[in-house]
Amino acid sequence: MTTDTAAQAAYVVAALLFILSLAGLSQHKTSRSGVVWGIAGMVVALAATVGLASRSITASGLVLIAVATAFGAGIGLWRARVVEMTGMPELIAIMHSLVGLAAAFVGWNGYLDVDAELSGSLLGIHHAEVFIGVFIGAVTFTGSVVAYLKLSARINSRPLTLPGKHILNIGALVAFVGLTVAFVARPGLGLLIAVTVIALALGAHLVASIGGGDMPVVVSMLNSYSGWAAAASGFLLANNLLIVTGALVGSSGAYLSYIMCKAMNRSFLSVIAGGFGTPAAAAEDDEHGEHREINAEETAELLRDATSVIITPGYGMAVAQAQYPVAELARKLRERGVEVRFGIHPVAGRLPGHMNVLLAEANVPYDIVLEMDEINDDFAATSVVLVIGANDTVNPAATDNPTSPIAGMPVLHVWEAANVIVFKRSMAAGYAGVQNPLFFRENTQMLFGDAKQRVEDILRGLDSLDAPVPEMAGTSR
Ligand code: NDP
Repeated sequence: MTTDTAAQAAYVVAALLFILSLAGLSQHKTSRSGVVWGIAGMVVALAATVGLASRSITASGLVLIAVATAFGAGIGLWRARVVEMTGMPELIAIMHSLVGLAAAFVGWNGYLDVDAELSGSLLGIHHAEVFIGVFIGAVTFTGSVVAYLKLSARINSRPLTLPGKHILNIGALVAFVGLTVAFVARPGLGLLIAVTVIALALGAHLVASIGGGDMPVVVSMLNSYSGWAAAASGFLLANNLLIVTGALVGSSGAYLSYIMCKAMNRSFLSVIAGGFGTPAAAAEDDEHGEHREINAEETAELLRDATSVIITPGYGMAVAQAQYPVAELARKLRERGVEVRFGIHPVAGRLPGHMNVLLAEANVPYDIVLEMDEINDDFAATSVVLVIGANDTVNPAATDNPTSPIAGMPVLHVWEAANVIVFKRSMAAGYAGVQNPLFFRENTQMLFGDAKQRVEDILRGLDSLDAPVPEMAGTSR
């Protein structure tokens, strides 16, 4: 068997492993094996690619590949080890930017180093591939960098609203089509520079125009773009595995974006076009009235007397790493005969499935963890809702206020319960930068402080309520 045949066979194996990986990742129980399949696929793919390259490069080239692989793997291992769960979205965004950058470089290389055997329509196709690859890669690159900056709070997550922003986006697309035709007819460096600059600007503008609340869709959308960028590189490099893998990532990312859009009641096309993030945020500082506070002991008493409790966790639970005491609280209350369930919003936290992962980590039984649609009708019959570090996902303005930037986004109807306790550290707004009228409702009380500490205080409060001689000293601040 020649090296080429062996490599192509290895590529087929790697592609199958990637498909197995995606299938495994679709469920909690199989997700670990999904990751293992993915790693195995990547090892096979890398080995086959190096094997193919070794036919035509010198020993020093191979050394360079080894150094680059070790360097890249080292950075990857280091980042994966140190990243906090809450930092995953920005890590993913910055990785997407690297895929985009690589695709743009492959495109440029395809222009600078044209295969001498290509002629006629094949040469035209090659130049179209160069242009499309550079365009998708550059859009993905700057789009992901802006997403990274927004997700890591290095820049404001409010939407950028340039005058005529849709015209700018459409203009950039029309220019791309026109330049592609011109480039295929008469390739030139100037045209390639022009499309690179336009694509870099378009990527940054598309993502900058999207408001904080819609960022989950952007993350999955950029995931999809990075897949298509890799597929475009695959065509240029005549590498079947890159085409297959890119298409897998591109289509699964597009499908995830579609699901997220449905969950957030957003139009898929508007988000792709950088459409959401309406400039209504100005009306935010309206008078909302006074909020009421509660302490941990009073919350413990309320929970002791409750018959049903729903816990709606959000990003703050992840920041505080409060899932373990929260799981303990749920267990204790259930032992006392209280019906306890969790209500999970599809975009709670900073990653799709973020809350489910944290609760699974803390061994909360799957059957009491319900999706928003499964639990939303039950709040009205619930004694106490504990909103633990959630904000945008429980904001009634999404249903009540058509001018709110998050208007139309489905939210958990926590305010319908008899009592709502909100765990957070201050009156600050959530990720979308929108004030939350829930905090000022009559049946809402704020329990300020770090979510983990407050839940631990409640656990102690429950214990001392059980103790024969009540002892509540030092449990609350
Ligand atoms: P939010 O981000 O809206 O709010 C989190 C709240 O947690 C804040 O108001 C904060 O208030 C509080 N908090 C932070 N740290 C702590 C702590 N240590 N202890 C107690 N409270 C804390 O959370 P949600 O989960 O409700 O909403 C998610 C938002 O993120 C949505 O807007 C969503 O669109 C967006 N998003 C989601 C992604 C996803 O895929 N899931 C990806 C990207 C964005 P305070 O500072 O006062 O403590």
